[in-house]
Amino acid sequence: MKTMLKIALAAAATVAAFGAAAQDYPAKDKTITIVVPYAAGGPTDRVARDLAEALRKPLGGVSVVVDNAAGAGSTIGSAKVARAAPDGYTLLLNHVSMATMPTMYRKLSFNVANDFEYLGIINDVPMTLIARPSMPANNYKELSAWIQQNKGKINLGNAGQGSASHLCGLMFQSALQADMTPVPYKGTAPAITDLIGGQIDLLCDQTTNTTSQIEGKKVKAYAVTTSKRLTTPALKDLPTLAESGVKDFSVTIWHGLYAPKGTPAPVLTKINDALKTALKDPEFIKKQEGLGAVVATDKRVESAEHKKFVAAETEKFGAVIKAAGSYAD
Ligand code: ASP
Repeated sequence: MKTMLKIALAAAATVAAFGAAAQDYPAKDKTITIVVPYAAGGPTDRVARDLAEALRKPLGGVSVVVDNAAGAGSTIGSAKVARAAPDGYTLLLNHVSMATMPTMYRKLSFNVANDFEYLGIINDVPMTLIARPSMPANNYKELSAWIQQNKGKINLGNAGQGSASHLCGLMFQSALQADMTPVPYKGTAPAITDLIGGQIDLLCDQTTNTTSQIEGKKVKAYAVTTSKRLTTPALKDLPTLAESGVKDFSVTIWHGLYAPKGTPAPVLTKINDALKTALKDPEFIKKQEGLGAVVATDKRVESAEHKKFVAAETEKFGAVIKAAGSYAD
């Protein structure tokens, strides 16, 4: 009986401590870390750094930093957050790979649906098809002829299995019925460096990374992956893949914010409120729009809707992965 009482008292003390910590969240002397599961300097990193800045004020001026835990198609960084203390000080910013990992990876050390709290969708981001600067083709028609002539010899970069670039590459190869050699990186920042250097031929990457490279003529750009042309000045002259003859091709990716499962509800509410404020921050919106991204303003910023959306995207892209037979261990 005495032992039972001790256990009950200890449990009550833990709940009270958590409650007090949740009340004080975020503590001024603590740092909130947003884990980015891709390399620094790439598109996911870019969104995270802009968001970290926009979150600081609504979170009471606390310091918000980015930790790049890159590799293995975002599974390393995602696992790190799934295992982190559920106290609101470690968050995950990831993109469409939350919807590709469950189908693509035969073994995952975490469960995307059950091991995270869903904090809201941040933005939707188009992608662009780009090539090394020495690519002889000057428009999509010439590129598609070059692809047919060079079948079996083409190196297509990606940010690891299940990444956005990998997904876009799978869809592109299947639409063209052209197998290319995948070259995985820890993110598309190092992939672009190699593209510029001519070590790889092609890459499909988010506009949040490619806009400045296209503007600076460091890479050749052929098309956008969206169903409509973009209005961003540097990208507005690029045709869509669909209008270039790649029938029905359309892919837009999104970024979301997550916390480890079990994070106390009051903490989740504070982060979600701060996220909603950040998504209305004119400075954040301006930066994102300049990079071709559209900041989320819809119901997907609510936890339940975010989760529902990721589940639907998992179905949609799961079918693409199954059709391509592209699995990872
Ligand atoms: N753009 C990458 C991808 O293809 C991720 C990154 O480097 O941020 O998923």
